[in-house]
Amino acid sequence: MSESYVIIGDGIAGSSAAETLREEAPDADVTVITDEGEALYNRILIKEFAKGKLPEAPISIHEPEWYDDRDIDLELNTFVTGVDPDAHEVHTHDSGTYEYDKLLVATGGTPTSLSSFGIENADAEGVHHFWTFQDARKIQENASEADTGVVVGAGLLGIDLAAVCAAQEVDAKYIMRGNRWWRYGLSLDGAEIIHDALEEKGVECVFESGVDHFETDADGRVVSTVDANGDEFDSEFVGVAVGLNFNTEFLQGADVEEDNGIVVDQYMQTSTEDIYAAGDITRYYDVILDEYAQNGSWGSAKEQGQIAAENMVADGEESEFRWVSSYSITHFDFPFLSFGFPTLGDDECEAKYSDTEWRRLSFKDGKLVGGVLIGDIAPQGNYKDLIRREVEVADQKDVLLEKQFDPEELAIPQEQ
Ligand SMILES: Cc1cc2nc3c(=O)[nH]c(=O)nc-3n(C[C@H](O)[C@H](O)[C@H](O)COP(=O)(O)OP(=O)(O)OC[C@H]3O[C@@H](n4cnc5c(N)ncnc54)[C@H](O)[C@@H]3O)c2cc1C
Repeated sequence: MSESYVIIGDGIAGSSAAETLREEAPDADVTVITDEGEALYNRILIKEFAKGKLPEAPISIHEPEWYDDRDIDLELNTFVTGVDPDAHEVHTHDSGTYEYDKLLVATGGTPTSLSSFGIENADAEGVHHFWTFQDARKIQENASEADTGVVVGAGLLGIDLAAVCAAQEVDAKYIMRGNRWWRYGLSLDGAEIIHDALEEKGVECVFESGVDHFETDADGRVVSTVDANGDEFDSEFVGVAVGLNFNTEFLQGADVEEDNGIVVDQYMQTSTEDIYAAGDITRYYDVILDEYAQNGSWGSAKEQGQIAAENMVADGEESEFRWVSSYSITHFDFPFLSFGFPTLGDDECEAKYSDTEWRRLSFKDGKLVGGVLIGDIAPQGNYKDLIRREVEVADQKDVLLEKQFDPEELAIPQEQ
């Protein structure tokens, strides 16, 4: 009998795993289950749709025919409610049970609502979270009609919502708890470049703030946001991006180790036999960093899906996940790139080169592990190469921060 592979989630991790499984195991049964009503689309591009800059068509990656052509069974609108590792079964809300020999969990996360922090009216009409194409459609519709808005969440997703407001000409306030945007990744020097760029686009940053509650009208629709200082901002549109809750409820009782995400080794194997996990949902063993890590980026999720699939098929031979991720922001006239793990490490250095050029590098045990580049992202290839090579360079920060960084100028002993 042919092997039976079941994948939960048709995001980039699940879908790339399905493609790899079909290539590696031409005769196997491959089933992809997703609670969404559409097949894989480009989650990175939905922000451009919400901004009103892209039509729907280019955002879709796979039509259902793509699965048919590869003899992959795609189950849309199917919510997984449980996994029984002993019986090797996946249970769904109303579509029955699927048996597997090997299972991949690639279910990503769901945006956290401010209601989980006890914020009044956090789920009112007009308060948006941003993860799916459906979310993007609602955001696009609401933002295009709104005159005023508030964005909450000073991170990489929050800034997408701020950019949507800018593009849709919403008069918006961007509420932040600290004194700057993405305080884990940027110093004030770096963040100021982003603040200026936001202000230029008509988004006003409000620091040392945070939401106290939302006010609604008689129909339950948000009309304003009251911040922690008691200031009230008109907001017909509200965008919230304050973190992700990982979609693992259906694993309750399955004895799969979790630690704010599903714990996997460098082969994407969970603690439970025949169950693998890939993508945003994993806390994986990072072989470069030499510790468990998490990564919420498209490229990393795609690679994890492929590696998981190779290992699900492999008989003894295992592929290792070894990856330096990057995440770029393209809302401004200058480029922005975060790579590796800019928020981890025990040492760092930074430099500002002009009003729109700044760089920060992070080190762990003397080795480069990540960084942020604003304005000039040309050195990214050389920096990522140093991370992959795991060489000790923290004592040569002056060379690393030269505007035209040349890796040839680094003194690296032969054996490294
Ligand atoms: C607006 C936005 C902008 C982004 N921009 C960038 C960017 O510029 N660069 C970058 O690298 N990354 C970006 N990301 C992050 C990137 O999109 C994610 O890291 C990546 O999509 C994760 O893929 P995944 O397959 O692990 O999870 P997901 O894409 O979240 O897919 C998981 C799937 O599983 C489904 N699912 C969950 N639970 C169940 C269940 N119980 N039953 C059935 N199905 C279930 C979900 O509905 C979903 O379809 C962005 C994300 C968003 C939302």
